[in-house]
This record gives sequence, C-alpha cells and structure tokens, in this order.
Amino acid sequence: MRIAVLSDIHGNLPALDAVLEALAPFDAVWQLGDVVGYGPEPDEVVARLGDVGATGVRGNHDAAAIGELETSAFNTDARTAVLWTGTHIGAGTRRWLAALPETSSKDGFTLAHGSLRDPTWEYVLTTPAARASLAILTTAHAFIGHTHVPLVFREDDGLVEMLAPSDGSQLQLDGRRTLLNPGSVGQPRDGDPRASAVLLDTGAGTVEWRRVPYDIATTQARMRAVGLPPRLVERLEYGQ
Ligand code: ZN
Repeated sequence: MRIAVLSDIHGNLPALDAVLEALAPFDAVWQLGDVVGYGPEPDEVVARLGDVGATGVRGNHDAAAIGELETSAFNTDARTAVLWTGTHIGAGTRRWLAALPETSSKDGFTLAHGSLRDPTWEYVLTTPAARASLAILTTAHAFIGHTHVPLVFREDDGLVEMLAPSDGSQLQLDGRRTLLNPGSVGQPRDGDPRASAVLLDTGAGTVEWRRVPYDIATTQARMRAVGLPPRLVERLEYGQ
C-alpha cells in the first residue's frame, strides 16, 4: 500500500491540493492533526480530506476550534486564528473534527499529533523528548507532527539518532523503532516554504519525504480577505 501521510494542513487548501496531486497515486491518506487553524479554508480542507477518505488524529488547533481545548496556551495570532476558525466552520466540519481520536494505530504504525506521552501539546524536537515517546511506543514506528519540521528519531542500541530529511530523502524502515515527522503541509517552519509530506510504501518498508511548491500567493490573498493576522499571512512565504 502507498499511503500519503500529511500533518498540519492548517486550512491551506492550495497546499493540500498540490500535495495530493504530487503524491498520487496512493491507496490511503493518514493525517496527523491540525487540519484547521491559521488558514482561511477549514471547511474546504475537511471536505477534501473526506473526499480522499483520510483517517487520522486530532491536533491542538482542531480541539480548540471546536471548543474542547482552552486557547489560553496559544500565542495571540494563533488564538485569533483559532477563534476565527471556530466561528466560521460548518456543522459537518465540527462533527468531523470532534470524531478524531487523540492517537490511533494502523498497520504497525501509531499516529499522534504531538508526542506519545502528550499527543496534544508536546513538541518532539530533541532526542530526550523523542526517547520519552519511544519508551512508551507499542508499535515499531510512529508518525507525529506538530513541530512543522520534517525529522526522524531512530532508536539504535540504546541511543537515539536524529535525522533531518530533505526533498527526496528516503528511509528504509527496519526493526529499529522510529518517530517519523512528515513536516507541515500548510505552514512549513524549517525555512523552506514548500509544502512538506511523506509517502509511505508499506510493501517496500520505505518512507519518502517530498517538498511540493504551491500557490502561496493565493492562500495569502484568501487569508487577507477574511482578515486573518498579517504575521500569519507573511510567514508562509518564508517557511517560518
Ligand atoms: Zn500545527
């Protein structure tokens, strides 16, 4: 099976469509949360994910948008965007988001937004944080998101090594336990503004990272049109 694994789409429909086109053909779509928040088209993104039969987990922005998470821990711009999202999404989007679990296990992979020990909030950017999640991982591998940075943490002989995949990087999965972060579709933060995602081939046991250009100006124009914070609009072109 070829599975497109997507995270942190954040209501960015042009980025999602570009990624779906670039990764096709695939047999399934897994998403790792933060489907909404920041971006101008939450309903359209959820509808598209419904069209492709995506399954997955809930992120902090998804939970906050439907009123199931306090927004006090969000920074000002993030809170403004999540409150905008909460008042603009339709009933169908609300139901779809509310049905997402915090974690999920599929075909030997665990899916979580942040980490295994705190799926909603923890950022896994360091080997100590990765080690804590690997210690409680009950499958061989896990996909996580939330940081908006493509990264791999792999357990090897008691040590945890960190890899930073770039466009076209392939990882051969083996018996070593790994945390795999596809990066963000809708708001990359590693200095590369192109959308980021991975293609998992379960037969070959490979994961391939892909960077996909999309029409950033269109997303920015739609954000301005609905009055989302200017700093959120600008960061898209810097990948920050
Ligand atoms: Zn996010």
